[in-house]
Formats: sequence, C-alpha cells, structure tokens
Amino acid sequence: MTRAATDPRPDTSAQAGDAAGLVDRLKAAIGAAHVLTDPADMAARLVEDRGLFAGTALAILRPGSTGEVAECLRLCRAAGVAVVPQGGNTGLVGGGVPEGGVILTTGRLNRIREVDAANATMVVEAGCILDSIQRAADAAGFLFPLSLASEGSCQIGGNLSTNAGGTAVLRYGNARDLVLGLEVVLPDGRVLNDLTGLRKNNTGYDLRNLFIGAEGTLGIITAAVLKLFPKPAARATAMVACDGPAAALALYGRMRASDADTMSAFEYIERPALQMVIDHAPGCTDPMAETHPAYCLIELTGGGAQGELDARLESALEAAFEAGQIADAVIGASEAQRDALWALRENLSEAQKPEGASIKHDVSVPVSRVADFIETAKAACLDHMPGLRPCPFGHFGDGNLHFNLSRPADMEDAAFLAEYPAFNRIVHDIVHAMGGSISAEHGIGKVKRAELRRYKDPVAVELMGQIKAAIDPDNLMNPGKVL
Ligand code: FAD
Ligand code: ZN
Repeated sequence: MTRAATDPRPDTSAQAGDAAGLVDRLKAAIGAAHVLTDPADMAARLVEDRGLFAGTALAILRPGSTGEVAECLRLCRAAGVAVVPQGGNTGLVGGGVPEGGVILTTGRLNRIREVDAANATMVVEAGCILDSIQRAADAAGFLFPLSLASEGSCQIGGNLSTNAGGTAVLRYGNARDLVLGLEVVLPDGRVLNDLTGLRKNNTGYDLRNLFIGAEGTLGIITAAVLKLFPKPAARATAMVACDGPAAALALYGRMRASDADTMSAFEYIERPALQMVIDHAPGCTDPMAETHPAYCLIELTGGGAQGELDARLESALEAAFEAGQIADAVIGASEAQRDALWALRENLSEAQKPEGASIKHDVSVPVSRVADFIETAKAACLDHMPGLRPCPFGHFGDGNLHFNLSRPADMEDAAFLAEYPAFNRIVHDIVHAMGGSISAEHGIGKVKRAELRRYKDPVAVELMGQIKAAIDPDNLMNPGKVL
C-alpha cells in the first residue's frame, strides 16, 4: 500500500495483519493478568444483560490508566483488530456485545481524580460506578443527579457513551447536560484532553458532544468533568392513581404550572406493569387499597423544610383531586416510605422477566402527544395480537416511554419474539408520525441500526458516516454498532 506523505495515520504496514502476536504484545503493554483469554473468564462479557445477544472475542483487556488504553488502541490498530469498549455491560441495545476483536473494559479506571467544591465539579475516571459517584458527591455536600435503576453496576463511561437518561432528566437533563469536559482516547491512540471544567468555552466545534452518545464508535472515554448541584434539603414523593394517560397528562400540566421549580420526577406506570412488581419484586406491595388503571410517581425536591414541601405537594394533589384528574394519592411520610414508592418504579424492568418474553420500545414523543401515543400504540398492538399485555411505563414528563409488551399469558416466548419486527414497525411508525424518536435513552447499538436508517434524516445519517470515517478510518472502534 502506498501512503500519501500527508496521510495522518501512523504507518503500521509492518505490523498490519499481525493479529497472531497481538495478545502477547497486549500482555507486555498492560500486564498478562489484565489480558483475559480463558473462555470461562470471558463468558459474562460476551453476552448482554437480557441474554438476547452473544458474541465472540479474542481477549478481554483491562487497562489501568489512560496511557494503557492508548497503548491498547495503538496495538490493536496496528494489527487491524476491532475494539469494543465495555463499562458495566448494562446497556440494552447490544452495543457492548463484540463481533470478534477485543473487549476493552474500563473497570480499573475507577478513580475519582478530584472533587472541586469551589467550582462545583468533579473529575472522574470512566470506570467509576454511577452510585459511587453519587455517594462521593453527597459526601462532599453536593448532588450528582444522574439516576438510573442500573446505577449499582453501570459506569460513568457507559452512561456518557449512551447519553443516559433516567429519572431526574426532568429537572437536571440527561448525561450530556451534566458534563463539562472529557478525556478520550482516539482509535489511533492519540489522547484528546478536553478536561476543562469551564462553564463557557466557545472555541470551535463541540467535540465533547460528538463522543457523548457515540456508543463507543469514535473512541474510548477515559475521564470526565461532571457538574455538581446543590443537595436538596427535602424531597416530597407521591404515588398518584388516575384513570389513564389523558388524566396523567392533565395532571402533569397542572403540576408543571404550579411546581415546575421543584418537580424533579414525573414517572408513569400502568396497572399491568405495577401488578408485575407487586407479584414478583420482594417487599413491594400495593400502595393503595383499590386498584386503578394508571399511576404517576411524582417527586418535588427543594431547599426548604420537609413539612413545607410535603404540604405543597399535598395541596397540588388536593386541587387535582377536586378537578377530577386523580382518583387517589399516597404521599411518603418518611424516607423509608419514599424509598418504598420508588422501589415500585425501579423494579419494573426486573419484574417483567418472570412473566415471559417482552418486546421493548424506548421511545419519545413531544410531551403534548404522550397520552395520544400510549392510547394509539396500545390499540394498534392489541389489534395485531389480541391477548397481548401492554406494560407502558417511564419518564412521562420527558415524553419518554418504555413501551413494553409482555407476551399473552398462554403464548410461547419464541413465537412471541418472532413478532419483534412487526411490533417495532407498528410502534415506530406511530412514534415517527408524531414527530418522536425511536431511541430516547438506550441508544442504537446493534438492535436499532436498520431502524435508524429508516427513520432518521438521511443527511444526518450521511454526516454521521463522514464523521465516523474521519475519526475511525479503519472502522475498528465498535464496528457494527449505530451506523
Ligand atoms: P455498557 O453497557 O458497558 O456500554 C454501553 C455502550 O457504551 C456500548 O456501546 C459500549 O461499547 C459503550 N461504552 C461503554 N463504556 C465506554 C467508554 N468508556 N468509552 C466509549 N464507549 C463506551 N438507561 C437509561 O438511559 N435510562 C434508564 O433509566 C435506564 N435504566 C436501566 C435499568 C436497568 C435495570 C438496566 C439493566 C439498564 C438500564 N438502562 C437505562 C440502560 C443502561 O444502564 C445505560 O445505557 C447505561 O448508561 C449503560 O452503562 P454501562 O456502563 O453499563 O455501559
Ligand atoms: Zn428509562
């Protein structure tokens, strides 16, 4: 191969194709103990959480520093071997599942490098588990608000690479909104150092935001500067029963008008989904004496006294009750009761598993269309398969629903899952017609590549391809994902 003198890529021709010696070179670079090749050691990282996808890999690499990540990428690139980054492996779209190549895990990059109280920022390495970051922020007197049900095992590098959402987006935004700077190792081993904690910095293209949400296809995030927020002194939490999505939307409009300054969560759960939690999640019980078609979990947080915030929530809900928008409500009277209400929401994904296969959609529509979407999509899906058990739930206030469909009680899992493409088409067509997105927070991964091409603006897809080719010309960073 001849190379132009201006070609910015390193000349790797001497080693190209030399994948055979790669494992030895990687062992020399980061230590033999951190290059796993035994199938038993690799098994758990070759599959995705739900077991829907499985792959193969040459080895698992566990570098312990940014420099070691850079060396791994240089060696893999020279050998023409693909690299699949993995954090906590809790992603739900198959983005971390390898198709050959090596898996690079970030678990050893787990230092909190700095908590800067004066600037309300912290610098963390990619492998820090999300709940350890929350705890470190708390210990320093701050809040790091990103919050997901998987926070005990997902890592901040994975959160940023998927631009994770969760239950506090309404107030604080998604992962992208919580970052001021990044350190990224590029596919050729160069290190992009953008670890500035500046709140304002208009010096050209926004490179940071290219890597956030890129699902590991452009490089490996090794560290980030995160924004910290004042720790709320109080939180008031209610589970509210209502008639269905239209009533929930009316309630949301009312709450936003009166309490937008303190509302930090507005989550929605339909009864069939809540019933699965009551039936299957240990310690979870029905919050009310009677059953209702739908529920909203609402939380206000603020700096005032607990009693004041509770009273504020109570009076808003009383007004909603008098207006006929809600049927019943329970306000958590203690920290334990507030946690118990949240447990009903946090156990939703897990509680669907014992009920057999489910087909999941992670979609968003304009908030004003959420109720319309739920009713229209439920009717269309039931029309396609009578007996189906729709379990819509999710981040109603963000217009983001996990529109999950549990199989009919008497149907085989395999026969039901064979209908995945048909249900995708039904649901995604409705989402698209309403100006929504086929992936609100979980990303594209392997699962939604074809759907991305079907629904996204073609110029946007073309530009994404050009950016990918510019940063990763050999297509070695997590190939087969997103694009
Ligand atoms: P992984 O699964 O390891 O990786 C995800 C993707 O990012 C992959 O494509 C991987 O290649 C890439 N990647 C990982 N680390 C890096 C890195 N350092 N640099 C570059 N690329 C990298 N998601 C939400 O958004 N909101 C929710 O509310 C939510 N709830 C969940 C609840 C449960 C019970 C579960 C199991 C998952 C949930 N998720 C949710 C999905 C998942 O937890 C998030 O996508 C999370 O951000 C993934 O983090 P991770 O460390 O597990 O990443
Ligand atoms: Zn979610």
